[in-house]
Amino acid sequence: MLSSGTAAIHLALRQLGVGEGDVVFCSSLTFVASANPILYQGARPVFIDAEPATWNMSPAALARAMRDAGERGELPKAVIVVNLYGQNARMDALMEICRGYGVPVIEDAAESLGSEYQGRKSGTFGDFGVFSFNGNKIITTSGGGALVSNDTEALDRARFLATQAREPALHYEHSEVGYNYRMSNIVAGAGRGQLEVLDERVEQRRAVFERYYEALSGLAGVAFMPELEGSKSNRWLTALTVDPEQAGVSHLDIIGALGAENIEARPVWKPMHMQPLFEGVEYYSHEEGWSVSDELFRCGLCLPSGSSMTEGELDRVIGVVEEMLR
Ligand SMILES: *Cc1c(COP(=O)(O)O)cnc(C)c1O
Repeated sequence: MLSSGTAAIHLALRQLGVGEGDVVFCSSLTFVASANPILYQGARPVFIDAEPATWNMSPAALARAMRDAGERGELPKAVIVVNLYGQNARMDALMEICRGYGVPVIEDAAESLGSEYQGRKSGTFGDFGVFSFNGNKIITTSGGGALVSNDTEALDRARFLATQAREPALHYEHSEVGYNYRMSNIVAGAGRGQLEVLDERVEQRRAVFERYYEALSGLAGVAFMPELEGSKSNRWLTALTVDPEQAGVSHLDIIGALGAENIEARPVWKPMHMQPLFEGVEYYSHEEGWSVSDELFRCGLCLPSGSSMTEGELDRVIGVVEEMLR
């Protein structure tokens, strides 16, 4: 249990020996917290595009990136796979590629706590799994995170690094750099209570998605984020794309109209390979000449999706969006 999901990713990279000049592959379509810890370690990110069916890491793009890296003798030290907006990445295909090259996987499940994939819980597929209990996540302790793994030795070491790398000695002995990344006991207490309502929150978020889907999916130019067969998304956020040519309005027009009614909606995450912070960083698109995350960013938006939204609130959002799209 840690102070944040970002801390968990950082510790996973440290565990895997990622350091100065090493290469780490990472999903491009994500929140910056997935990628920042790569920079903390002085390592070099390479961003991998999304695929249309999951909006998550494209196995085709990952395979091309691995092949090139292998040929250059520069295989990544780790791959960070993100489960966006609650939707699991195609973990079986991605794990198979990474296993084939002997590269460990960090599964960033910060947005997918409570989701399932092929009957297993999200966050349990990688060598390390990462969760977040930040204020905006499906359950929250106001701030917090977790690192999970079957490698209990690695977790012991993560705990050690999270406690200022304090050696067992009366006088506080230190031989390497550590962090103050532990979760406080009060926060942990809140988290235990929150875990009890997780299943309920997942059902509430899925109901919010269903309500939007029923009302809006028939309108021209609208496409909702798909749910991969054999998986169950927690639908942390309801995300959809709006094709401006078919719809006659853009996703930004809709966000603007909602804003005028004091309703907050946001575009889909701006991909990391398009961010000034990562200018010039290597990027592998889904297919040569076809970048899926660019397209999703160009026309994707997230609707208000709070677990406690009332029928009346949902109707208000739907009313504004319908009016724009008709
Ligand atoms: C929220 C989030 C994180 C980071 O979690 P914090 O607890 O806020 O540090 C990491 N990755 C993704 C995809 C997130 O959405």
